[in-house]
Amino acid sequence: MKQEIKTTYSRAEVIRLLGLGVPGMILGSSLLSSCTKYPLPDSKFSGSVGIIGGGIAGLYAGYLLQLQGIPYRIYEASDRLGGRIFSEDGILDHSVEWGASIIEGENHALFNLMTSNGAQWIDSPIQDYAFVEGYWLSEEIMKDQLSMKKLDEVILGLRDYHGADMNANLYASNQGVPASTLPVWNARLGIRNGATTDIMGILGITSKIQNASSGTTQRQLRNGSLSSVILSSFQDLSIQYQTPITTVDYSNSQVVLTDSTGNFYNHDKVIVAAPISILKSQINFNPALPSNVSSAINGISMRPGMQVLLEFNQRFWETDARRLQMDGLCPNFEVIGSGGRSVVNHSLMANLYGTAFENAQAGPTPVVAALLQQLDNHFGNSIASNNLVQSKVHDWSQDQWIQGIQSYSPVGASTLRYAFVPSIEHKISWAGEATHTEGHHGTIHGAMETAARAVQQIMTEV
Ligand SMILES: Cc1cc2nc3c(=O)[nH]c(=O)nc-3n(C[C@H](O)[C@H](O)[C@H](O)COP(=O)(O)OP(=O)(O)OC[C@H]3O[C@@H](n4cnc5c(N)ncnc54)[C@H](O)[C@@H]3O)c2cc1C
Repeated sequence: MKQEIKTTYSRAEVIRLLGLGVPGMILGSSLLSSCTKYPLPDSKFSGSVGIIGGGIAGLYAGYLLQLQGIPYRIYEASDRLGGRIFSEDGILDHSVEWGASIIEGENHALFNLMTSNGAQWIDSPIQDYAFVEGYWLSEEIMKDQLSMKKLDEVILGLRDYHGADMNANLYASNQGVPASTLPVWNARLGIRNGATTDIMGILGITSKIQNASSGTTQRQLRNGSLSSVILSSFQDLSIQYQTPITTVDYSNSQVVLTDSTGNFYNHDKVIVAAPISILKSQINFNPALPSNVSSAINGISMRPGMQVLLEFNQRFWETDARRLQMDGLCPNFEVIGSGGRSVVNHSLMANLYGTAFENAQAGPTPVVAALLQQLDNHFGNSIASNNLVQSKVHDWSQDQWIQGIQSYSPVGASTLRYAFVPSIEHKISWAGEATHTEGHHGTIHGAMETAARAVQQIMTEV
């Protein structure tokens, strides 16, 4: 019997196939399988482990070690847990997520952790809206709009692209993506990955699309915050706050960590779970790291960026909108109160990452005024400027121990992450989102998977 191969896809199908923005829908309350990629053996290891960084990777590593009864200590530079998971209450009628807000897929330990902590998801299908050729297009209209159809076709083709690496915008132009949809390309493939497509390599993008195994749904909490749901699981860990590690000396049988005030901490093994931005300049290693590891640290990028919250006294976008994508200073605004998260749904979060952040910093107009101007230009009647209630900025570049959004691969850097897979001399293991090699870098669940990898390594390499 001849097998029928589907060659045309609706826009919603394209998005779903590539995991580019389908809102989370409840799949049922069944607890899906835990991460079985890194099963833990019965350990013979009896030494102690130092963990650098109290983001989700460091915390999950500590949690797994604690379960195994292995002594460990997490050294966190700041006075706060969670790193790039950072929720704040008391600003709006719901928690504000300054960092991660979306759980991608469900084939991972994070999903299980969330569901077992009673996470309640937004369950209504919510749409992206894009401003293309002078009009706001809903997903329904996009699938019949010529330029958007071409964009979808090129994005879908990324599943099969194995050619040369090149600048992602150049690739789009070569493939015939119309200039009118480049801002949407940038919002979906750039901003979503913590940067902008003008500075990203196409193979860095395709490596995520082709390798990710987490699933393609995107879930957001309807109630509560990521900090409270995730971090509450890690409260009983052994953590030393305000301890920035500046030197890792692995020249002897024990690893010696030195903090910024000169205190020493000895451990048998160490998990480094600091962001790649920090590894570039703020932590020294003795002896120097192998050249492939230092090439990875230097070659993988993580750019500064900021989130700008804008609360209005009325909503001027469609009720079901989840993201507003448009040309101008900021390619992507999240509708952060959508799907019932807010009673009023009057607030947007501008994602200024990559060169969008740099343009905002360099521009003559202060950032909030510039964003209002951009919204006025697209919605008309000075509606944004006239209805602003409050604005608040979270500038991740000012966070001394993070300094950026998500790691991404510039041209030529798409395979560098593999340098983080083996340990160094069975003493130093790597964790953190930037060290994920199978398509989950730049995510919470990816960071957790690298922690599981590091712990497995510690327990098997005795
Ligand atoms: C604005 C934004 C939006 C995002 N959106 C999403 C999303 O929707 N979905 C998603 O899955 N992911 C998203 N991410 C990415 C996600 O937040 C990260 O991939 C993940 O949280 C990274 O965890 P980590 O443990 O690797 O690093 P981090 O969270 O950065 O933790 C590293 C920790 O190390 C500490 N540290 C640094 N240097 C030192 C030192 N020298 N000594 C001791 N401690 C140190 C830091 O203070 C920090 O606590 C987003 C990120 C940002 C910033």
